[in-house]
Amino acid sequence: MDLDAASLQAVATVRRWEAGWPAVTPHSSVAVTPERAQQVLEELGRRLGDNYPFFHPSYAGQMLKPPHPAAAAAYLMAMLINPNNHALDGGPATAALEREALAAIAAMFHYPADFLGHLTSSGTIANLEALFVARELRPDAAIAFSEEAHYTHERMCRLLGVRGVRVPADARGRMDLAALEHLLQTDTIGTVVLTAGTTALGAVDPIDQALGLRDRYGVRLHVDAAYGGFYTIQGWAGFEGAPAGPEGIPAAAYRAIAECDSVVVDPHKHGLQPYGCGCVLFRDPSVGHFYVHDSPYTYFTSSELHLGEISLECSRAGAAAAALWTTLQLFPLTPDGLGAILGACRRAAVSLARLIGGSEHLRLYQEPELDIVAYFPWEGGMTAADVDAASQSLFERAMAAEDPVYLSVARVTAGSLHRRHSNIEAGSETVRILRSVLMKPEHEGFVEVLHERLVRLAG
Ligand SMILES: *Cc1c(COP(=O)(O)O)cnc(C)c1O
Repeated sequence: MDLDAASLQAVATVRRWEAGWPAVTPHSSVAVTPERAQQVLEELGRRLGDNYPFFHPSYAGQMLKPPHPAAAAAYLMAMLINPNNHALDGGPATAALEREALAAIAAMFHYPADFLGHLTSSGTIANLEALFVARELRPDAAIAFSEEAHYTHERMCRLLGVRGVRVPADARGRMDLAALEHLLQTDTIGTVVLTAGTTALGAVDPIDQALGLRDRYGVRLHVDAAYGGFYTIQGWAGFEGAPAGPEGIPAAAYRAIAECDSVVVDPHKHGLQPYGCGCVLFRDPSVGHFYVHDSPYTYFTSSELHLGEISLECSRAGAAAAALWTTLQLFPLTPDGLGAILGACRRAAVSLARLIGGSEHLRLYQEPELDIVAYFPWEGGMTAADVDAASQSLFERAMAAEDPVYLSVARVTAGSLHRRHSNIEAGSETVRILRSVLMKPEHEGFVEVLHERLVRLAG
């Protein structure tokens, strides 16, 4: 679709809507001349040139890509009105759109219809809300998360005044459930955070197996699926009769999210949205009472539930809900909708991993479970320190090359490297390796070029 045309449609639509009221002359205090505005926007354009090409498949680094044009146009349309999804008074239309979008996401996770949930400004805030509810329910208990979990869990535990406990990861970067069980036997843990798609490696914790531990030890389970949550579509695909993708993902773990107490997913990662769109869902709607407050000036136009009554944040962009809703009309959460985009990303990762596995001067750090590939340059007899230096050097040379590719660097310990590559000695020092998040479907057609450039740089 054409963003230029869609943007014009968005602006024209809002202008038409505004024309339904008596004309307003803008106050002289907000006036700017077109020449001056053009000048400053030109300057902004120059400043924004200082960016990596996130839109391009040669950008195979961090979790970054532009929103879908439909999301951008919808965001623009709603943003010109600028509703605030805190209260129905701030934007009845976008509050309704948020509820519909949330219902679609809850259905993707196979959550019950009476779930409680809302959008947030980020995955971090969404996780904070889930941990806040966990603390309210188990005020004296600790929260356990894997050593591979997102770094913000530790920080949010500190913020909430809850003890956070790290659980070791296994040799694939997933939470080690034997270690978790050992910890649960100490009877101090109230909530376990499981990750469906770790930020570094895209590893999926064995959520299905953790359900048994929940039953045995009575802990709450929260799933941080900020990055990998939309792969739940793939997780249910084969199960519901639709063909599963050609390249499997840990489907049982994804289907088990349905049984967990809360889950977080970031539409601004794999949901084609601009930043400012996270989401938290609770299985049991009664946790809503923990959010109770009695603001003297917000909720007046209706006795219906206002989203601000179940959110830690006050103002939230109604435009974010409008953009997500629009995107979900065009890309429903089905194998043929958003699932087709994820399928291409997953296939890109599988092919890149296979190509790297067959390369003389490259080594795969571990097999990808989703669409994040970790690898490093290799010469026989390298030490961990050599791998570190060679990775950093390749990262820099790749970016500076005439036909650049943009990668990212991940830090692992020499011990983790040794567990996967026993010919490299163990140690406690950190080692940089390379990491490519293949979150654009265009990566599927670019993998061979990317690999060829990596081989050239590593050789
Ligand atoms: C990105 C990410 C987060 C943090 O989300 P933000 O939207 O960046 O705040 C949390 N957990 C995981 C697993 C993530 O990948």
